[in-house]
Amino acid sequence: MRILTADDQPIILKSIKHKLEQVGFDVIAATNGLDAIEMFDINNPDLVILDLNMPQKSGFEVMEYIRVTKKSRVPIIVMSGNDEETVIVEAFEAGADDYIEKPVGLNEVVVRVKKLLKMSLKSEDFKKGEKKDSGILQKNGVGVVIPCYNEEERLKTGEFANFLENNRGYLLSFVNDGSTDGTLDVLNKFQKQYPDSIKIFNCPQNGGKAEAVRLGMIDLLQDPSLDYLGFLDADLSTNFQDFEDLVKTLSGSEYKLVAGSRIQRIGASIFRQSSRGIISKTVNWIIRKILGMEFQDTQCGAKVMRREVVENLFNEPFLTRWIFDVEIFLRMKNFYGADKVQTMICEQPLKRWVHEDGSKLSMKDSIQIIGQLLQIAIKY
Ligand code: UDP
Ligand code: MG
Repeated sequence: MRILTADDQPIILKSIKHKLEQVGFDVIAATNGLDAIEMFDINNPDLVILDLNMPQKSGFEVMEYIRVTKKSRVPIIVMSGNDEETVIVEAFEAGADDYIEKPVGLNEVVVRVKKLLKMSLKSEDFKKGEKKDSGILQKNGVGVVIPCYNEEERLKTGEFANFLENNRGYLLSFVNDGSTDGTLDVLNKFQKQYPDSIKIFNCPQNGGKAEAVRLGMIDLLQDPSLDYLGFLDADLSTNFQDFEDLVKTLSGSEYKLVAGSRIQRIGASIFRQSSRGIISKTVNWIIRKILGMEFQDTQCGAKVMRREVVENLFNEPFLTRWIFDVEIFLRMKNFYGADKVQTMICEQPLKRWVHEDGSKLSMKDSIQIIGQLLQIAIKY
């Protein structure tokens, strides 16, 4: 059985192709609507899986070609990130036999494909796989920068690997910030295990977290399949589940940036060092005054934003090594205007946060931060 699948996101296309081939289908993949039409004519597939938003020709146009021009009754599954009822109904009207909303599990895709093809289902089709062959297809491509300075001992490659095995559509970019230990070796070895989902960006000199994140984000902009770009600390003090929640908020809203926030509240397990707590309470108060925004916690290391924020605001190096988050918000304020910016940023409480030992932020850094805040207040 031959399946034609079209999607403009390479990571998604690759995952579907791999999964369907694994269960025995012959798969042809197209990255845009025009190619899909051409491949349809040449290959005469038994089933078609179409994304809606594609360059050159949309999924709707491809469907019209198949149903109207070619008068073909071949089963068509639309697989889209669009969850609007009008669009879903329109797709069925245009001739779709099924509509799958992303994010979706790959096993679900297989079951739906087999049902449409009236193939008998095997018991293994109903198993929820936890290993490599399973995974969730994301709605959007997400790039995550993980700055790493001397993280050889601390880097939990196991946790990163586990996340990658269960999620398709994520690209992790580890930025080695001039580490003097074996970090780069550890990263390079790890990258070989997941060549499609991990990239390494190497800064030969230590430039501080701000510059490492900035360079990593600008580098990720080159990849057009990434809709959202974010960053996360290497120690995973914010876990991936929470990071995904930030992504979900972004994709289901008009916000331009969603920031994790370590707010103490019932139902969340937020473990912070108390010695740091006092300093950070003072710092946070000053930050609120400088920003003119009621931010509770600007310094959490987990943030995700739309491409345009990076395109517009990451061009110039930040003034400071540690409190560049404040600079990002001030740049947004200057760029979008003080009123509008309040509706563009969402501070989202995390469910979990743990203080990880081995912080690279020294006491000296902490004291310097007060002076740096003054510098920031003057510059922006
Ligand atoms: N980091 C970096 N360059 C530096 C110092 C730190 O890229 O010069 C990275 C570090 O590897 C980690 C993140 O920045 O991923 C936050 O550092 P850390 O966990 O030490 O700070 P804290 O959790 O205390 O804010
Ligand atoms: Mg940390």
